[in-house]
Amino acid sequence: MSSFSNLQLAPTLARAVAEMGYESMTPIQAQAIPVVLAGQDVMGAAQTGTGKTAAFSLPLLQRMLRHENSSTSPARHPVRALVLLPTRELADQVAQQIKLYAKYTQLRSTVVFGGMDMKPQTLELKKGVEVLVATPGRLLDHIEAKTAVLNQVEYVVLDEADRMLDIGFLPDLQRILSYLPKQRTTLLFSATFSPEIKRLASSYLQNPVTIEVARPNETASTVSQHFYSVGDDDKRRALRQLVTRNSIKQAFVFVNSKLGCARLARSLERDGLKTAALHGDKSQDERLKALDAFKRGEVELLVCTDVAARGLDIKDVPAVFNFDVPFNAEDYVHRIGRTGRAGASGLAITFVSGSDQRLVSDIEKLIKKKIELEAVEFEEERPRGRFNSGRRAWGEDDPRDVTELSSASRSGGRGRTAAPVDPFFDKPYEASAPAEGAPAPAWESTSNKPSRSLSTNIKTKRKVAALFKSGEPA
Ligand code: AMP
Repeated sequence: MSSFSNLQLAPTLARAVAEMGYESMTPIQAQAIPVVLAGQDVMGAAQTGTGKTAAFSLPLLQRMLRHENSSTSPARHPVRALVLLPTRELADQVAQQIKLYAKYTQLRSTVVFGGMDMKPQTLELKKGVEVLVATPGRLLDHIEAKTAVLNQVEYVVLDEADRMLDIGFLPDLQRILSYLPKQRTTLLFSATFSPEIKRLASSYLQNPVTIEVARPNETASTVSQHFYSVGDDDKRRALRQLVTRNSIKQAFVFVNSKLGCARLARSLERDGLKTAALHGDKSQDERLKALDAFKRGEVELLVCTDVAARGLDIKDVPAVFNFDVPFNAEDYVHRIGRTGRAGASGLAITFVSGSDQRLVSDIEKLIKKKIELEAVEFEEERPRGRFNSGRRAWGEDDPRDVTELSSASRSGGRGRTAAPVDPFFDKPYEASAPAEGAPAPAWESTSNKPSRSLSTNIKTKRKVAALFKSGEPA
């Protein structure tokens, strides 16, 4: 294991690292830090959660220490390092980490992102900062307002570059990069090296050292994985029952589409669960609020899409639900990697419906484990009794049901009041179509019956009630 002490970091940085409690370098750190210290460009394939932020910030701060000074004059603190990220949450997260690493130095850092008043950001920038973390759009606003001057930038980090391109930030990036001195070190991090990313790298990086950290495709042994055969119309009910039976205090609930995410969150909220949605159509402010509420424990279920959840540094979630089987098996690994961290036990529950067999087989191949399909044995749920027939499992579309449900959930101690009814959300859960070439999604299935033979390896298992009686999963 590589130790940070081999790096000969300045005592101020070494002290901050020691305080973080890091014992050894992660693979991306062991590979990238020496390269950045040597001043070379880097093209890194690594995702958030791999220790990537320290991998670029520590060597960058170390190299900038020569500019460290205690002058109060803003002119003595020009922007020397620029870190660009696609979203406000990620920018905020990275800026917070950089502040921690730099806390014993005199280097200043700040973050600017959209959806917020520009004034406080302007004030910070005017005081002078060496490290500027930013989202591209807002940075351009500051460049235009002349509050961000980038002609002394020595380091640029394009973090989550693939996602910046997905969001359509390429023109903004090109403009920003055109303001920077040619003589600089450029670091690009991306989850994948798609042709677009390679093009970006060939235009803006000079002889980069390529560093790839393998995507983990092993699931932690501390995560108890369960796959339930559930018809699409029963998924919500199954979710509620599993949350209650397992006394799950908080969970991520993954769905495959933004629309599905909004609808599911809304309907769970109406069921009396404290829920928030995290998807690409939410404003930055809404997303940050949802995240904060989840981190504070005020939200029980964070319903999210893969893209929205990617990169969020939320640890120790007791459970993860895959309300939809992900289209990519790798996403399954990433999703359930949110639980069972650092030796804690975690629970990962996946709902499998009729036409998910190919997706489940893909997961089976990736995780190299037999997947045994379990059946959910539903318990009678008051106030559900009246609404047991037909497509709408929880009396959706019936305002009386909402009232009844809400009062039931109030008496259940969740302290919720009835949410106003928005007709959009009254439609049953429905995800949008997958990308071309992807297998047909589960919700297109007309059958609610459990799939009988998912793969040769998938066997129907004990009834879920029996499973929980035996005291597992933890
Ligand atoms: P990142 O991928 O940079 O978002 O980092 C993910 C998390 O890993 C952050 O909470 C870091 O504080 C933590 N981390 C970074 N480097 C290390 C390390 N060497 N050892 C333990 N944790 C680390």
